[in-house]
Amino acid sequence: MSSTDAVFKFLDAAESAIIDLETSLTAIPALAPESGGDGEWKKAEVLERWLRAKGLTNIEHFDAPDARVSAGKRPNLVATIKGREPGARLWIMAHTDVVPEGDRGQWQTDPFQAVIKGGKIYGRGVEDNQQGLVSSVMAALALLDAKLVPEHDVKLLFVADEEFGSVYGIQYLLANATLFAKDDLIIIPDGGKPDGSEINTAEKNICWLKVRTTGKQCHASVPDDGANPFLANCDLAVRLHDMETEVFTDRSPLFSPDRSTITPTKKEANVPNINTVPAEDIFYLDMRVLPQYKVKLVVAEAGKRARLVEAKYGVTVNLEVVMENESPPTPLDTPVVGLLRSAIKATCGIDARPIGIGGGTVGAYLRNAGFDCVVWSTQDETMHAPNEYTKIANIIGDAKVFARLMLRQA
Ligand SMILES: [Zn+2]
Repeated sequence: MSSTDAVFKFLDAAESAIIDLETSLTAIPALAPESGGDGEWKKAEVLERWLRAKGLTNIEHFDAPDARVSAGKRPNLVATIKGREPGARLWIMAHTDVVPEGDRGQWQTDPFQAVIKGGKIYGRGVEDNQQGLVSSVMAALALLDAKLVPEHDVKLLFVADEEFGSVYGIQYLLANATLFAKDDLIIIPDGGKPDGSEINTAEKNICWLKVRTTGKQCHASVPDDGANPFLANCDLAVRLHDMETEVFTDRSPLFSPDRSTITPTKKEANVPNINTVPAEDIFYLDMRVLPQYKVKLVVAEAGKRARLVEAKYGVTVNLEVVMENESPPTPLDTPVVGLLRSAIKATCGIDARPIGIGGGTVGAYLRNAGFDCVVWSTQDETMHAPNEYTKIANIIGDAKVFARLMLRQA
């Protein structure tokens, strides 16, 4: 029997182990303090015990202090399967925290008790991110069971605090531990398509901009006595949106839509009555630009357009960046992209294509720190919704892909 045959045989028979681990993890709501929870500590304890009982015993802690939770810290765990020789290590990174169940009335089952029905497991966290966690663990167990030693070290990383900005998770690790090497392969199984055909390699640069414009209040019957910041903002909203077609015009087939988007969104209330020109008007833009455009550059262009509007309407415009996030894309010729594509092809017969998304994955922190990474899994994307589920077949399929990568048998 070839090594992949042995591994696949184990994984094809892994359903009860998958259900057991998913059930144990789902039973402990690992909610962040921001969601009124007590963190991931108890869940990480259960996970660690489960792994040790199955023979994955090389486990290290890189916990982040956090006085808000009763354990006083947020768990970050690394389980290592030693490889035959030094070389690029394979990291599979999953998060242990979950979001609250939301409106419980919309759930058909108890969100914190895994329910198995028709090849699916239902419960909060079963997909986000326990699917990725469990598939990485099953791949490692399959190697152990077949007594196969991976080519290079395999590292299963279980991080805290993904849902609230990763300050106590990957951001803490990047600042306080030296885990990653430049040539390591890093996969984040926390997002994907139902057929596993998309590998996320890039994000748009995001900037949320607050536009606060002040004018001069007056009676609406004599508008020439005042300066109308609402009218000025209407004009400015269009001018800022037009940066899409006039300045930041590149296209990239990686992304959908394939262009930078500059979208006026939220509008704050100004005056309560119809016959007053307001003194102040505030609106916001959600800007997501292709990675070649730095946020600074976009904000500078917005500033130029604001000056023109100030001159035309006699108002003062203040621009404030309320959130920004930018990261370089993972190059498509980087080993993790090629190896993952061939492992998916060999396992599922699918030509997976690299894609970019609008933003907001933990991959950005790694890429900003100089580490190439990809986000991939096979999932229906039910995360954060009521009746979240994962397909057992997807966990097994993804575990086969990970096992191939661990053995470098793509
Ligand atoms: Zn997630």
